[in-house]
Amino acid sequence: MPLISPWRADFPGLRALDADGQTYLDSAATAQKPQAVLDALLAYYAGGAANVHRAQHLPGERATRAFEATRDQAARWLNATSRDEIVFTRGATESLNLLAYGLEHLFEAGDEILISAAEHHANMLPWQQLAARKSLKLVILPLTPAGDIDPQAAATLIGPRTRLLALSQLSNVLGRWQDVQPLIRQAQQHGALTLMDGAQAVVHGRQDMQALGCDFYVCSSHKLYGPDGVGLLYGRRDALQRLRHWQFGGEMVQQADYHTSTFRPAPLGLEAGTPTVSGVISLGATLDYLERLDGDAVARHEATLHRMLLAGLGNFPGLRLLGEPQAALACFTVEGVHSGDLAHLLTEQGIAVRSGHHCAMPLLQRLGVAGAIRVSLGLYNDEADLQRLFAALDKALELLR
Ligand code: PMP
Repeated sequence: MPLISPWRADFPGLRALDADGQTYLDSAATAQKPQAVLDALLAYYAGGAANVHRAQHLPGERATRAFEATRDQAARWLNATSRDEIVFTRGATESLNLLAYGLEHLFEAGDEILISAAEHHANMLPWQQLAARKSLKLVILPLTPAGDIDPQAAATLIGPRTRLLALSQLSNVLGRWQDVQPLIRQAQQHGALTLMDGAQAVVHGRQDMQALGCDFYVCSSHKLYGPDGVGLLYGRRDALQRLRHWQFGGEMVQQADYHTSTFRPAPLGLEAGTPTVSGVISLGATLDYLERLDGDAVARHEATLHRMLLAGLGNFPGLRLLGEPQAALACFTVEGVHSGDLAHLLTEQGIAVRSGHHCAMPLLQRLGVAGAIRVSLGLYNDEADLQRLFAALDKALELLR
């Protein structure tokens, strides 16, 4: 019996893509949405849209209640100690930029920010730019050939000059879970702040902020089967209080006159302007959906499918995986074949995979490749998707060789 996803039918977008002859294997870029999320979006708009935190009228109160209910839910889901530790942003990228501006005043020339060699541009460029603004040093933690942060190198590089450690838990290129807890502890022993980019990680396992022990954590709703335009920033209460306000406008102000103003504390003080009301409310429906799933069954399904993916790719001569992926995805090149050409032939056969540098140009340079194909899985993928991928790869390689 081929492996079938019991959750596939929850995702109407996949039915539409099936009807278009498309096999969706690009969930690390963005995920399809379950019907429950579409229902929540429609219910919000069809029930009467309103802004939040402003008006006393009924629609405004209703929207505010639903919006704030998602904050409670996100706090529970991440095991934060308080709802005030959850800030809504427009995505992981915005969360990271918020941090780079909000923390700027804490750095002095010569201080060090540590990231790994495997970071997405979203967790590299904000720090690179901050380093340039404040004459800081951006230190890159090297990787082992499998794709792990080299623990020995990290132990020597994390030191008294380290002011911030910013790492992704699960790389969007290497699909490797990083053992971040010991690194967080080491950095904290030196008094540094710690930040985890969970954009890929949260999709493949619920994360517990108390167990992880970091100061900040960021992720995006759209990769988590939720609506786009919404991100989460978790900050431990004392860490959030150290952030300076970064965007200025409606609802984040306590008192304003023409020349001076005072601002609200986090979280509302960090949420200037009208937020993505529909998106935040529908993220609540997304978390409901995810909480109702049997997490162990999802993890088993994803692990089995991932093993099948790696075994199938292993049958293609000359195919080289980038690192040794443990979860969710596989990035590869094929000897003698241009990745762009291969991607083109896969696309023509209705295989939706991503190709290129995957927003991690320095990592691909280190790995000695200009571009790679990435296959990434969601909980709705099943064996038939992989079989279509392998058949299309066969055909494409036959043409290219
Ligand atoms: N970090 C990682 C590891 C990612 O994979 C991504 C998205 N590809 C981001 C950060 C940025 O997320 P977003 O584009 O949703 O802001």
